[in-house]
Amino acid sequence: MSGKLINGKEIGNTIRQSIQQEVNALKEQGITPGLAVILVGDDPASHTYVSNKQKSCEQMGIYSELIKLSAEVTEETLLQHIEQLNTNPSIDGILVQLPLPKHIDEQKVIAAISPDKDVDGFHPISVGKMLLKQPTFLPCTPYGVMKLLEHANVDIAGKHAVVIGRSHIVGVPMGQLLLQKDATVTYCHSKTPDLKAITTQADILVVATGRAKMIGADHVKEGAVVIDVGMDRDENGKLCGDVDFDAVIEKVSAITPVPGGVGPMTITMLLFNTLQSAKKKLS
Ligand code: NAP
Repeated sequence: MSGKLINGKEIGNTIRQSIQQEVNALKEQGITPGLAVILVGDDPASHTYVSNKQKSCEQMGIYSELIKLSAEVTEETLLQHIEQLNTNPSIDGILVQLPLPKHIDEQKVIAAISPDKDVDGFHPISVGKMLLKQPTFLPCTPYGVMKLLEHANVDIAGKHAVVIGRSHIVGVPMGQLLLQKDATVTYCHSKTPDLKAITTQADILVVATGRAKMIGADHVKEGAVVIDVGMDRDENGKLCGDVDFDAVIEKVSAITPVPGGVGPMTITMLLFNTLQSAKKKLS
């Protein structure tokens, strides 16, 4: 069976077109959605992610504000910036680019963001509401994966979904969102003894490990749908995923590429969440 590509760039662009229309309509009513991004330190990958997010805001006509802080900034100063943004009426979404330097308590910083502006969906209140299926901001990467599955017409109900990875930003919420769509969900992680025995049972396999090309053809069931969240570098320094794409594509019914799969969806859902936050001003 030859695999069908799930094109995140294309699906992301379709969603962005409707976001754009809604942003334009909001602006006509005098509301410009605004996103503030706090970037701490000089990590090159973080700089790239932040500049992509800013560019995307610009393209959509969403106001964006970048607060760049040195790697030595104190936790107190960082919290003060968040406090100011929490009450700044031109800001609808606040994002602190992770990871933060070791001397800063990441959980404390996330908890300081107003849940009303938590467009990353990492605040404990957002996480709790997600688990309870209450309206809230959903974390952008798993939310983006759900949109990919929806646009690719993948049936989820009754399917066995296997998620490899249990981080708070990807793996754990990913499994919960699949569960809420009636999948039977299994989580795997680094302590899972026989990974292949589980992954070969997956109708839908989501891989979020950060281990370049660790999933080969032996790991997947014939006809499975494979979603590769990984953003890794191969032995030549080229961007690749956690899945060995060339080895797997012939065996599966659908697969996301890296780049051009999950990545564009993460930013798209961030724009979507920022728009939803701004729309609350209408009521
Ligand atoms: P993370 O916090 O490092 O979590 C990795 C998870 O994978 C952990 O739960 C770990 O298990 C598990 N794992 C590691 N090696 C494993 C192995 N050999 N077998 C089974 N499980 C294994 O990473 P993350 O933040 O979730 O990110 C995962 C990947 O997604 C990274 O490549 C990251 O760059 C990428 N990512 C992409 C996007 C995007 O927009 N495309 C967004 C976010 C992240 P333990 O819990 O037991 O350690």
